[in-house]
Amino acid sequence: MKRRKFLKNASLSGIGLALGKSLTSCAETTPSDSVISTLEVASLPLVIATWDVKNATAKAWEVLQNGGSALDAVEQGCRVEEANEKGQSVGKGGLPDRDGNVTLDACIMNQNGDCGSVVFLQNITHAVSVARKVMEDTPHVMLAGSGAEKFALQKGFKKENLLTEDSKKSWEAWKVKSEYSPIINIENHDTIGMLVIDKGGNLSGACTTSGLAYKLNGRVGDSPIIGSGLFVDNEIGAAVATGLGEEVVKTVGSFLVVELMRQGKSPQEACEIAIRRIVDKPNSNYKNFQVGYIAINKQGQTGSFSIHQWFSMTKFQQGKNETIQSEYFNKDA
Ligand code: ASP
Repeated sequence: MKRRKFLKNASLSGIGLALGKSLTSCAETTPSDSVISTLEVASLPLVIATWDVKNATAKAWEVLQNGGSALDAVEQGCRVEEANEKGQSVGKGGLPDRDGNVTLDACIMNQNGDCGSVVFLQNITHAVSVARKVMEDTPHVMLAGSGAEKFALQKGFKKENLLTEDSKKSWEAWKVKSEYSPIINIENHDTIGMLVIDKGGNLSGACTTSGLAYKLNGRVGDSPIIGSGLFVDNEIGAAVATGLGEEVVKTVGSFLVVELMRQGKSPQEACEIAIRRIVDKPNSNYKNFQVGYIAINKQGQTGSFSIHQWFSMTKFQQGKNETIQSEYFNKDA
């Protein structure tokens, strides 16, 4: 029943696939045909991001309009949410772990397949920019914890207390019961993941988060793990994840979405199949957590899909910045 329902959803949203104004779909193709190569390119550039983050996508768009690269755009876009103290799951003001520490995870990837990442970073608001420095200024991909912080300080980043009064209050309220339950709020979780394709058709992506609220000290999610939280392949497309990171890591979700596109699936189909990979597991507990993917292919087709309702994707294209509710799997709620 579960599976039938999903397949129905999948085919409906396949029919409703948003193709962009100048994009025309190819006629009859089989999965083995190269669907991508027979499609025209949608209007570029194009910015997409997880959740309703119009200020962030507007910033990325502005960077592109001013001649910045796709990489500059994703970094600057993500920084908007990192600096937004009201957003309690990214950057400054992020909810802490159960011991009261705000710890950030972020990564970034460019059109050449280069990438950088920071995990368990403390006291630095702009984790995405530290990740970019790791990519550009070191021979490494990932720096963690105090090493990442030391590196950031050496690079001139400012040391700041990331635990705002509001987040401290929320943590103190949580401590009254201290129920450790790593379950993601279905309606409201907002790691920001952003994907950009520039007017030349080159892709970059980034992802930044404070991870699960009240997590165990030391916990790292999917967001800084290349292939899980984010993957970019400039020949094919890019994908980024949000939601319960453990479930994304177990299926190497973003890489899976990109590989499905390589096999000829549209971004929408690829996101749906990757979600199905999670919910179809034996003993899947999917009713209790959320995972969402957004994806873009080389031609500027986009897709987004989640387990539960209320996930959304913000898209900036042809001067229009809009948040679109995603199709989702669990219609039983
Ligand atoms: N994926 C993030 C994590 O598990 C959480 C989120 O999407 O907000 O750390």
